[in-house]
Amino acid sequence: MFYSPEVIEDIRLGNDIMDVVSAYVQLKQHGAYYFGLCPFHAEKSPSFSVSVDRQTFYCFGCGATGNIYSFLMRKENFSFPDAVQFLAERIHYRLPEAGGAAETHKNARIKEGLYEVNKLAARFFYDALQEPEGAEAVRYLDMRGITRKCRVKHGLGYAPLKRGALHKYLTGAGAAEDVLEVSGLFTPDKLRAGWNDKFYGRLMFPILDVRGRVVGFGGRVLDAGPGGDAARSVPKYMNSPETPVFEKSRNLYGIQNARQAKSKEIILVEGYMDVISLYQGGFQNTVAALGTAFNAQHAGVLRRYAESAVILFDSDEAGTKAALRAIPVLTAAGLRVKVLQVRDAKDPDEYIKRFGSESFGKLLGGAQHHILFQVEDLKRRYDLTDMEGKIRFTTEAAKLLAQAESPVERDVYARAAAEASGVAFDAIMAETEKLRGMSLPNAGMEKKLNFTRPAYPSVRPEHNKLKEKGLLEAKKLILNLMASDTKLLRKINQYVSAEEMGDEVYAKLYNLLVSFAEKGRSAEPAELISHFETVVEQEKAGEVFAQGGAGDRRIAADENTERVLNDAMKKVKIAYLDGKIRTETDAEAIKKLLESKRAVY
Ligand SMILES: [Zn+2]
Repeated sequence: MFYSPEVIEDIRLGNDIMDVVSAYVQLKQHGAYYFGLCPFHAEKSPSFSVSVDRQTFYCFGCGATGNIYSFLMRKENFSFPDAVQFLAERIHYRLPEAGGAAETHKNARIKEGLYEVNKLAARFFYDALQEPEGAEAVRYLDMRGITRKCRVKHGLGYAPLKRGALHKYLTGAGAAEDVLEVSGLFTPDKLRAGWNDKFYGRLMFPILDVRGRVVGFGGRVLDAGPGGDAARSVPKYMNSPETPVFEKSRNLYGIQNARQAKSKEIILVEGYMDVISLYQGGFQNTVAALGTAFNAQHAGVLRRYAESAVILFDSDEAGTKAALRAIPVLTAAGLRVKVLQVRDAKDPDEYIKRFGSESFGKLLGGAQHHILFQVEDLKRRYDLTDMEGKIRFTTEAAKLLAQAESPVERDVYARAAAEASGVAFDAIMAETEKLRGMSLPNAGMEKKLNFTRPAYPSVRPEHNKLKEKGLLEAKKLILNLMASDTKLLRKINQYVSAEEMGDEVYAKLYNLLVSFAEKGRSAEPAELISHFETVVEQEKAGEVFAQGGAGDRRIAADENTERVLNDAMKKVKIAYLDGKIRTETDAEAIKKLLESKRAVY
């Protein structure tokens, strides 16, 4: 859903950031700001500030910053359009329908209808579980030790055997035929030219999206004795098919509860019952993929809520394979990944029942780093009594170890790999450092110049870090001056281009500031932030103007300003040219770039 900048700004101005934030944080006034405990990091004394004037927030502890949209996106894990819709509803603002086309209107109606139908269906299944016909499902839950409270919390239900019961119920409740058709709850009955209930005689698990709406169902067969479903070789678990509101590659079972658990770590399990029994054991931060392998979209969803993930799959071969497949997907999304295989019980559920939640918590804390888990898998795959096997093991293990950023970690894992395999530690370490040397960012340039790279990087990282910081400050200063003073903006615009800002967010801010100035409008940080759609970009944009706390960015221009600005512009231009020179391969072009660089000084 796309909304125009005008609509987004209207809605932002219609809502006061204080009203929204104070629903989550207790705030106390200190001068121009309000302070409270930061909702984004754990702290004992308040470093989270809100500015009513600027309609922004800033945390002195963790640096979190942004406007009212950013706050809700972080706090509620809303997407940008979600946050816009939420705040529009809050002030009864009528959002324009995208495109206004009849087709879009119909899609929106179908989607709304599907949420309603799913909610009604969940109610229907839930009620059926309480009836005598649900007795068998209740027996199964009793047998698994699922408490009544937990059943209610997860909205567990029962799909009755009586054919057509759900269809009749939903039609009776006024559901539209075209909505029912695409709901995934029914299959066409060719003989009667009608519809059959897709789920019957199953224990039902409603699947909720992050906003707590029912989007689909999972159903588990019950052992109905001879001739029952279990005997008729039907799949043990069945999920709703994809519908306009249910995308399997995005939805995770348990995500709604996991989000509320507010844990930075998420536990990934294989199925519905794992999620429920772990929840009951006190681990609410548990999710399962729905009949598909973990993919990049799932990982992206998880990354919005968590920093690390523990893969807790069955310890059999299939579970190990699935874990090995999930690792690169999760690490690519930026999650820290660990793996836990439960040894003393057949699954986590049994473990918790036998040894208690506390023991399980300890077990979880000791989960293996994914690199070690993969090294152990390699050990099983290669014959380490054989020279050839040892060499291949070492090469493969080094590839894994080279991924670890810290030298301490590499050292620890190399020791573990050496111990596990009987291959010398030095050999594994040397191979690892060789691989790391090859993938260092500047390796391409040095190859061009015919350098040979030493085994360890020769650049001084400390020096580089300082230089980076100086450059960053220069860019922020330029953008701040552009926002404060139109005359300086014109000067900057003549000398430095948006591209030379060397960063997408900064380039966009640059262009926004120029276009605001052209229209003679003032550029408030809170408004500028709304032009970015992700929390990461919003924070980066907000941070530019947040130097003095909750967005006190005005820089009073004095006699020093010109000099400081000139230095900053030089720095930015040179960094840009250096970057070009590094990646350019044409000798003539490099010469030209060097000339431009000389002209800057
Ligand atoms: Zn904070």
